Amino acid sequence: MTPQAAPTLTGKSFFVIFTDLDGTLLDHETYRWDAASEAVELCKERGVPLIPVSSKTRAEIELIRNDLGLEDPFVTENGGGIFFPRESHPEPPRSTVFRNGFWEWDLGRPYGELIIALREIRAELGWKIRGFSDMGVEEIARLTGLDAMSARLAAERDFDEPFVIEPTPSDLGPLERAVAGRGLRLSRGGRFFHLHGENDKGMAMERLLDWYRKQGLTVRSIALGDSPNDFSMLERADYPVLVAPGQGYGRLKDTISRLTITRQRGPRGWNEAVMEILGSSEEDRHG
Ligand SMILES: [Mg+2]
Repeated sequence: MTPQAAPTLTGKSFFVIFTDLDGTLLDHETYRWDAASEAVELCKERGVPLIPVSSKTRAEIELIRNDLGLEDPFVTENGGGIFFPRESHPEPPRSTVFRNGFWEWDLGRPYGELIIALREIRAELGWKIRGFSDMGVEEIARLTGLDAMSARLAAERDFDEPFVIEPTPSDLGPLERAVAGRGLRLSRGGRFFHLHGENDKGMAMERLLDWYRKQGLTVRSIALGDSPNDFSMLERADYPVLVAPGQGYGRLKDTISRLTITRQRGPRGWNEAVMEILGSSEEDRHG
């Protein structure tokens, strides 16, 4: 286990970071994270679990966590799946299934159901809705700015269908009602709308916090995000961080008074916030 989680720290506070990827830890345009490498290294040094919580797929996040050198759990497709790598978690967490090299908790609805629902909704509203399942790899690559290989990984979906509406209507009410009427949820990320089950990032975060607490750890959670689909995490976090200065989400501070809004965007903002929070807790570490 990670150094911070050593049994001697049981009962003391333990930082866990839940982070969105696109536009937060990764640059919105280039998908690079090197501007955050100082804080990422500090997390590793201090044994602070760094948990990606993204609308990305398992295949996509696997690549990114390898690149970041992370051994921590991760959350895919807007809270649809929670994955624990077997190498770092030899004991299966309770009620997980083992699949593709990971212990897995499924919180989401199967992808096939979501595709059928989105097609029904399109017919019902008569809107020009296009989901990933309607697109080829090339179109996904063009819309996301990903290369063809990454776009292929993005298309390997289990629990969430990203889609665009052209043009985006100003009143989303009819869509919201059509989605809710099917017991599904709509969220909005940096590029796409997403159709998924009644899972969200915050619920997945809660499930993981519970898992840490059951190990006798007093967790202090840090959550970072840049879009509305991250707000359910920010609401639950002890240290919520909005990495989207000037995006018009500043009013979030009315509902989350402890919210920090970074000065910089993307990985620079991420670095700034995490260094600040972990740095200011230096005393606790030795205390
Ligand atoms: Mg984002």
